[in-house]
Amino acid sequence: MRKTLIAGNWKMNAGPTEAKVLADEMVAKWEGKEFSQEALICPPFVSLPFVVKSFRDTFFKAGAQNVYTENNGAYTGEISVSMLKELTCEYVILGHSERREYFNETDDFIAKKVRKVLNEGMKPILCVGEKFDQRQQGDQKAVVQKQLSNILSLVNESHAENFVVAYEPVWAIGTGETATPEQAQEMHQFIRSFISNKWSDEAADKVRILYGGSMKPANAEELLSQNDVDGGLIGGASLKADSFSEIMSIAEKLSKN
Ligand code: PEP
Repeated sequence: MRKTLIAGNWKMNAGPTEAKVLADEMVAKWEGKEFSQEALICPPFVSLPFVVKSFRDTFFKAGAQNVYTENNGAYTGEISVSMLKELTCEYVILGHSERREYFNETDDFIAKKVRKVLNEGMKPILCVGEKFDQRQQGDQKAVVQKQLSNILSLVNESHAENFVVAYEPVWAIGTGETATPEQAQEMHQFIRSFISNKWSDEAADKVRILYGGSMKPANAEELLSQNDVDGGLIGGASLKADSFSEIMSIAEKLSKN
């Protein structure tokens, strides 16, 4: 059984002071309560040590929003996998559409980062998804297949358990627009069968596929109920302890059904 992963992407929001308050609020909401699935928050790098500290001795995990391919050296402005591991981070978001769009990250570069992260025993959350015009033209599957293809060739299927994909239709990110549960399931099923063709059925069955794009308490239940939706990557709604906790509660309830 794949464990549901409820992951928050704070993007470039919440500096150290605000991050600590928000992380503490989330911990307080779950004080004395059990969460059998996985909850993750990915703050900006400067806030990461503070969030790690707030989450110590709780089930909440803190992760990163990006990482570089080298271990150390003359790479001004970059952060390495070993630095994240020193902070006890398990997860790192890679290939987010904002990094593809504003920082010109290519499929090749993202594939190298995914390989580095998996080889070092961390878990990448690889973001894929089509833009609005690509969906209008019916190209969503071809786009996602291209984004996944290199990576699945570069990486061995023995990493399946640590490999997380986030299907994030770009037109649904931060827009209030959400894919319908049927649209999400269709794409998630497509991604899983593509992984199965490249790797194997057993490996594809272990990969978690998250949905991202304006997930909130009002739509989380129907999205998370889909067979191939194994969690959410949540932007806006992860910046409020109430809404993030509500989505976690929905995931917990569904896990008991
Ligand atoms: C995201 O940033 O990955 C995201 C899904 O954002 P939002 O939930 O705000 O659409």
